[in-house]
Amino acid sequence: MSDVAERLEEVRARIARACADAGRAAGEVQLIAVSKTFGAEHMAPALKAGQRLFGENRVQEAKGKWPALRAATPDLELHLIGPLQTNKVREALDLFDVIHTLDRPSLAQALAKEIVKREGPAPRLLVQVNTGEEPQKAGVAPQEADAFIAACREEHNLAIAGLMCIPPADEPAAPHFALLAKIARRNGLDLLSMGMSGDFETAITLGATHVRVGSAIFGGR
Ligand SMILES: *Cc1c(COP(=O)(O)O)cnc(C)c1O
Repeated sequence: MSDVAERLEEVRARIARACADAGRAAGEVQLIAVSKTFGAEHMAPALKAGQRLFGENRVQEAKGKWPALRAATPDLELHLIGPLQTNKVREALDLFDVIHTLDRPSLAQALAKEIVKREGPAPRLLVQVNTGEEPQKAGVAPQEADAFIAACREEHNLAIAGLMCIPPADEPAAPHFALLAKIARRNGLDLLSMGMSGDFETAITLGATHVRVGSAIFGGR
């Protein structure tokens, strides 16, 4: 087995164990393999091992890597987990099935404008919440999340599927995951994108439906 396939199997086992420990069904948590910085050749073993959800943080990088792979694997699902500029919205909608980083009114407006022009399924949209209120980090502030979600729904007619967060690197992640889950609950949102290589088990305990795991599968970047 390749290193990637082996590590993927290990991560899957850890997810299953965390689900069991939390009294959740294994199927409640989806693994997004975060493939940023790794070339297409690293995707082959993951695809062969049955991985179908992948995450990228740059539109440009995804554009170079995924169209060919997607043509060969129609049931692939691509998730944008990095910041989205409004002038890249059209390209992003061509590439991605799920966008985790809706974080400001101008982006909601640009997405809404482009989505109505399209046929086929609309992308699933997650609002990114800056749970740590870090100035350098994207995401709406926790206290502004309810109003932003309402504006997305009412002013822009966007269906919001869930929330995403990236906790501060130097703090325990659990309170951030709990806060995200609480904001999701009170807004009637089902999807929770939270947990990375270092903390996905904690995220699963606190209700994650999507964990975004990169280095534990593909190695260090
Ligand atoms: C890179 C990245 C990940 C994966 O991080 P790892 O620590 O390598 O698992 C998850 N989420 C986002 C938003 C990322 O940019």
